[in-house]
Amino acid sequence: MGLIDPKTFLFVANLLGILFAFVLAVQARSFPDDIDGLRDWARAVTLISVASGLAAMRGLWPDLVSIVLSSACLLLGQLLLIFGLLRYNGRHPAWRPALDGIGAVLLLILWLTYGAQHYQGRIFLMALAQIAFCAAGAYLAWRAAPAGFGSRFLTGVFVVSAAVALWRIGTLPSSASETDDLFDHNLIQQIYLGMFSLGVIALAIGFILITNERLRVELEFMATRDPMTGSLNRRAFFARADIEWARACRTHRPLTVITSDIDFFKKVNDTYGHHIGDLVIKDFAQRATAQLRLPDILARFGGEEFVILLPETGLAEGKKVAERIRREIEQRRDPKLPPYTVSLGLAASGNTSTDLSALLAEADAALYRAKQNGRNRVET
Ligand code: GH3
Ligand code: MG
Ligand code: MG
Repeated sequence: MGLIDPKTFLFVANLLGILFAFVLAVQARSFPDDIDGLRDWARAVTLISVASGLAAMRGLWPDLVSIVLSSACLLLGQLLLIFGLLRYNGRHPAWRPALDGIGAVLLLILWLTYGAQHYQGRIFLMALAQIAFCAAGAYLAWRAAPAGFGSRFLTGVFVVSAAVALWRIGTLPSSASETDDLFDHNLIQQIYLGMFSLGVIALAIGFILITNERLRVELEFMATRDPMTGSLNRRAFFARADIEWARACRTHRPLTVITSDIDFFKKVNDTYGHHIGDLVIKDFAQRATAQLRLPDILARFGGEEFVILLPETGLAEGKKVAERIRREIEQRRDPKLPPYTVSLGLAASGNTSTDLSALLAEADAALYRAKQNGRNRVET
C-alpha cells in the first residue's frame, strides 16, 4: 500500500464496484426470468461498495455513518449475495429470520461503538459475520449450475474472502494498540478494506460469468431440442448425423437409420384428445431412448415421427434395435395412456445410398411398406 494512497485506491475500487453493480442490473433486465438473483446481486454489490466507501470516511464523518450505517450496508449486502445465490439455485429465501439476525448484530455493533467502545470487538464481530456469509456463499456457488468455470471461480473468491476475514481475526491480538481514530496509520485495516473492495468486484465478475454460462446452456438447449419431448430437433439431428456420415465414409464402417411413425395416431387424438396424444408422443420418446446406446441419436422430425441414427451399426444389428423398440412400445407400461403401436423402417449405409438424405429416403420407403403390410412391424 506504500505505493498508492490507500484512500484513492479505496475510492477507485468502490467506484468500480458500483460500475459492476450497474452491469449486473443491466443483465437482470435483459436475461430470461428463470435466471434469477441478478437483481439481488446488483443491489448487494452496490451496498457493499457503499459500505466500504463509508468505512473509508472514518474520522471525517460521524461514527454513526462511518461505522453503524456502513456495517448495516455491509451486512445487508452480504445477505443479498446469499439470497441472490439461493434464488439463482431456484430456492426461496426467508427474509424474516435473516433480518432478525442482522438486527441483533447491529445492536451489538452499536453497543461496541458507543457503550463498550471496543474497537477490536467490532472488527471481530464483522469478520465473523463475513466468514459465515462466505462459507454459505462458497457452498451455494459450488452447487450452482452449470458446474463450469463461473461456479468454481465464485467458490474460490468466497473461500479467499473467508480466509482474509480469518486472517483479520488472527491479526487482532497483535494489534491491540490499533485505535479507532488513527485510520490513516492503521495499515492492516486499510489492507483489509482494500482486499474487501477487490473481493466484491471479483464476486461480481464470477456471478456475471456463471449467469452467462447458464444463458448459453439454455439457448443451446432451445436451439437443438424439441421443447415437448426434449429430443433433438431436425436441425440438431443433421448437424450430428453429417459428422457420423463423414466418419462412416472415412472408416468404411456401417451406419443405420431408423424412421418411425406411431400407428393410427389420429385415432388417439380423436378418441382421447390432443393432450393424451402429446403424452403418448412423450412416452414414445422416453421409452425409445431407453432402448438406445449413448452414441445413438434420436430426433423428433415432426408430429409423431422420430428418426434414429445408429453409428457403427449394420443392418442386422439395427434391425434388432428397431425390433426391440417395437416390442417395448407394444407393451402398455403407463395405465393412464391408451395402448399404441409403432411402425419402423430402416436402411443401412454401404449399399446404394450415396448420401444421408438418400439413406433417409430409403428408410422412409421401408416405413411406408411397414404401414402397408399391417403396421406394428419393422421393414428394411
Ligand atoms: P398411420 O398409422 O398411417 O401413421 O396413421 P396416423 O393416424 O398416425 O397418421 P399420421 O401419421 O399421418 O398422423 C399424424 C397425426 O399426428 C396428425 C396430427 O394431427 C397429429 N399430430 C401432429 N403433431 C402432433 C402433436 O404435437 N401432438 C398431437 N397430440 N398430435 C399431433
Ligand atoms: Mg405421421
Ligand atoms: Mg402415424
